Amino acid sequence: AITSTLENAFAKDSQSTAIIVPSHPAVTISYQKLASDVRRFQQQLAKLGISPKSAVSIALPNSYEFIVSFIAASWQRAIAAPLNPAYKQSEFEFYIDDLSSAIALVPKGSFAQDAAAVRAARKYQAAIAECYYNGSEVVLDVKELGKLSGKGDHPIESAQPDDVALVLHTSGTTGRPKAVPLTHRNLLRTMKNIQATYQLTIKDRTMLVMPLFHVHGLLAGFLAPLASGGSVIVPLKFSASQFWKDFVEHKANWYTAVPTIHQILLRSPLPSPMPHIRFIRSCSSPLSPKTFYELEKALSAPVLEAYAMTEAAHQMTSNPLPPGKRMPGSVGIGQGVEVKILDQEGNEVAQGKEAEICIRGENVTKGYLNNPEANKSSFTKDGFFRTGDQGKKDRDGYVIITGRIKELINKGGEKISPIELDNVIAQNPAVAEAVSFALEDEMYGQDVGVAVVLKEGKKLTGEDLKAWMADKVAKFKLPKQVFFTDVMPKTATGKIQRRLVAEAMLKKET
Ligand code: ATP
Ligand code: MG
Repeated sequence: AITSTLENAFAKDSQSTAIIVPSHPAVTISYQKLASDVRRFQQQLAKLGISPKSAVSIALPNSYEFIVSFIAASWQRAIAAPLNPAYKQSEFEFYIDDLSSAIALVPKGSFAQDAAAVRAARKYQAAIAECYYNGSEVVLDVKELGKLSGKGDHPIESAQPDDVALVLHTSGTTGRPKAVPLTHRNLLRTMKNIQATYQLTIKDRTMLVMPLFHVHGLLAGFLAPLASGGSVIVPLKFSASQFWKDFVEHKANWYTAVPTIHQILLRSPLPSPMPHIRFIRSCSSPLSPKTFYELEKALSAPVLEAYAMTEAAHQMTSNPLPPGKRMPGSVGIGQGVEVKILDQEGNEVAQGKEAEICIRGENVTKGYLNNPEANKSSFTKDGFFRTGDQGKKDRDGYVIITGRIKELINKGGEKISPIELDNVIAQNPAVAEAVSFALEDEMYGQDVGVAVVLKEGKKLTGEDLKAWMADKVAKFKLPKQVFFTDVMPKTATGKIQRRLVAEAMLKKET
């Protein structure tokens, strides 16, 4: 279980730093202290009556109390269910109800404010407890007991490899979010895969910028570095200027983030001299080759793009560290995960041909919760998981994602990759950001639409853009319509939902 990995890291050097919270003054937590805080928290959960398979909803922002409660809940064989603390009441209700949570952990002060998470938990008789670090331990301040006994009669448990440690929901990019159970075995496999891919050791220090309530932040930003005995710097909030201050002050040497965050960091004043950065990891959304080159140049570090999804407990592929080859526009090769490009019948297609990216490995979930239909259609007869992403492999086996199967633009049978178009249009000197999507079309069924944010002070018309694209892509891929907008709609984690962009652009027009 993740317990033993943590204990291994702890045994390497119990006094070494596990966590730094860069508040003022910074809080530094050793592996020994982390382990004892987790044990104490686990005892408190046991006393409350948290038994195996109880769901513990964690509606806390990135913080030391999130970390302690997450590990403690999974050690207690309960199911940790992190939730975005910024959700509205109806969203909290959906997630708390979906898992029949036994308890909801909320930040200090939430109860007095009758916060959205508190109201949602009460509606489904979940216990409500405020969690905070008082400078010496993580306090679990129970406000309501809900369905729990609170009698202190439940024993301390010890998690097993096939226990579900975590349930997270997918991002809901292509439909309703699906609940994904991940076992200790799944998480451990990803932790080991990530550790091996980036050769993480006790000497590494990372800045956590991604939220802990998604697999990216939780697995790549936090659990994997912890499993290798390194240190994780956990800012309570993300700000670009503070990021670089903390990065320098606490001697970080790598970080992982989505492309949107990389772009924000690129545009912020960079530290001088630039600290030594061992590598930068980009994941969760396509990184345009343009941003790849800008990042490598500005930060003097190799940029490694990876490919991940909730169902795979995060990472599936990544570009390797030097001297391995990095390929801009590619997500690299399988990292402890088998990757095949399969057709509808589950047969492997010829190298270079596009079809569905499918994966197999110890990290992959056994199936969604309460969703037999999706489970039936998501696995091939050989046990490969269908990612829903379309892609191909180059001669060296590097995977290139061309789009989500549901988001490919089907123009009269001709499949157009929206990612390819985004990357081409992003190279226009007047364009800051471009997102392509399918438009309904009488003649072809679908045609190409593109939403464009211009750089400040730049001018461009739809006709200019089409003329500029004419020698860069085949004629049938030229957009039928170009929409100009000041802001691109995105999800909380900086993801593009092409369908929503399309809806927003069409709505603006009428
Ligand atoms: P839902 O499954 O609910 O529609 P989602 O697929 O966005 O939402 P996640 O599990 O958070 O939910 O995201 C996984 C998806 O993110 C992948 O299937 C892929 O489409 C996309 N993705 C991840 N990494 C990359 C990358 N490097 N480049 C392009 N796309 C990526
Ligand atoms: Mg998905």
